[in-house]
Amino acid sequence: IFITLEGPDGAGKTSVIQQLVPLLKEKSKVEIVVTREPGGIEIAEKIRQLILDPKNTDMDIRTEALLYAAARRQHLIQKILPALHQGNIVLCDRFVDSSLAYQGAGRKIGVEEVAKINEFATQGVQPGTTLYLNVDSDTGLGRIKKGRKVAEQDRLDIEKPSFHKRVQKEYLVLASEHPERIITIDAHVSLDQVVQSCYDSIIKKYPD
Ligand code: C5P
Ligand code: MG
Repeated sequence: IFITLEGPDGAGKTSVIQQLVPLLKEKSKVEIVVTREPGGIEIAEKIRQLILDPKNTDMDIRTEALLYAAARRQHLIQKILPALHQGNIVLCDRFVDSSLAYQGAGRKIGVEEVAKINEFATQGVQPGTTLYLNVDSDTGLGRIKKGRKVAEQDRLDIEKPSFHKRVQKEYLVLASEHPERIITIDAHVSLDQVVQSCYDSIIKKYPD
């Protein structure tokens, strides 16, 4: 079972995963492998550092999209697929949808263009379920400003509000295009409520 978690910056993915995983581990008979993108393994974590380094202000947007796809490929081959083949549940923080939303819509490369390189990278591997934590950009950016020091912010956290609006809008388009895969969770509410909704959605779809 391959499950991904998606959402704009400030949706609370990291906090949700921290609380959700112990609940799932209690319930599940098989191992739950928790991982994240870009990263999850050494090569991909190195690519992550390269992409998110605030000093790399001159990185071309297509270079960036290719690096995300490259990190994804390596992570998929080295960690996600082996774990799935062993029968584990893989819970991954971000996957292809992030690139469609951030690079495709946010960076304005175009969603189809970005989908193409990701098709090459994943050879069509898709999550069975995607939990999309929906927050509008005002709420999301407000949380980031409150919770993190400027020095800790990623390169993308300091993008214009219009960038984050395009990201969120694209996520909503993707959710409406793939209702069988993407479950939209309202993430404006309290963390506990979001965790509960995620848990309920997963149990409903995979009762055992
Ligand atoms: O999800 P996480 O906080 O680890 O993401 C790190 C940063 O990378 C965020 O600022 C996010 O907006 C950005 N990102 C991106 N494109 C992706 C994935 C993440 O711009 N495909
Ligand atoms: Mg972040």
